[in-house]
Amino acid sequence: MDRLTVGDASVVRIEEMVDTSFTGKGFFPAFDPEALRPHLSWLAPRYYIPERDALVFSMHSWVVKTGRHTVLIDTCIGNDKDRMPREHWHRLRTPFLERLRGSGTAPEDVDYVMCTHLHADHIGWNTVLKDGRWVPTFPNARYLFARVEYEHWRAHPDPNPIRRNGFNDSVLPIVEAGRADMIEDGHEVDGAFTVQLAPGHTPGNVHIRLASKGSEAVFAGDSVHHPIQVYEVHWSTVACVDQAAAAASRLRLLQTCAERRSVLLPAHFASPHAAYVDQAGGKFSLRWLA
Ligand SMILES: [Zn+2]
Repeated sequence: MDRLTVGDASVVRIEEMVDTSFTGKGFFPAFDPEALRPHLSWLAPRYYIPERDALVFSMHSWVVKTGRHTVLIDTCIGNDKDRMPREHWHRLRTPFLERLRGSGTAPEDVDYVMCTHLHADHIGWNTVLKDGRWVPTFPNARYLFARVEYEHWRAHPDPNPIRRNGFNDSVLPIVEAGRADMIEDGHEVDGAFTVQLAPGHTPGNVHIRLASKGSEAVFAGDSVHHPIQVYEVHWSTVACVDQAAAAASRLRLLQTCAERRSVLLPAHFASPHAAYVDQAGGKFSLRWLA
């Protein structure tokens, strides 16, 4: 599933890489291997490698063409970025932009870049290294950042060097170049997108709802990192700033997707990357898009 349509809008997934370096035990404070057992028939090996407790994460962006505008949602890790001590994110040389072009979108075509939050794996391609400086990758785009999120990280630099460097090399240069717009809860783009604050994973984390001709999808960023969190909704992650708030935002997201029959488009689900959410008896389940 690398392409889908939502009403009149087309959605294309652009993959940067697959990351299997995070373990269930290390990533979820509430991790319990027994909770995975009933799901292993479909989780393994696509989403989970039991032999080494490895979570399978895809790093990808979504390109949406509404007919009027081209919108890029979440911009992965990026090339050339200092991301030590996470060696496999450090100074990458991936053909992400070639893949973007190959899918039918040139960097010049992008009208809006939207980031669900400002962690290093959602902002990296905001900028590229040119003559020793970080410059906007998408020269004609406005970059939309949630004001709450931007102001939080500006006032409270993340102690984690990966995230702090990310803010400095992939967010601040956009603001300094005058390409950023700070947006509020409820912000609309193109009559098709609505931004909803969903704090928890980060203070200004957002969900981005796409609606067209009665069909809907939600770009959920990291409110759901991994499919198991649809079944174990209270499992927030070590990367979540406020784990209880993240779980509350996740619950609302899943309820909304179930009630409105919205396609759930998280930032890191491995193939097929997108699903409907069903709700029965207070439990949620995923129905994968073919
Ligand atoms: Zn992420």
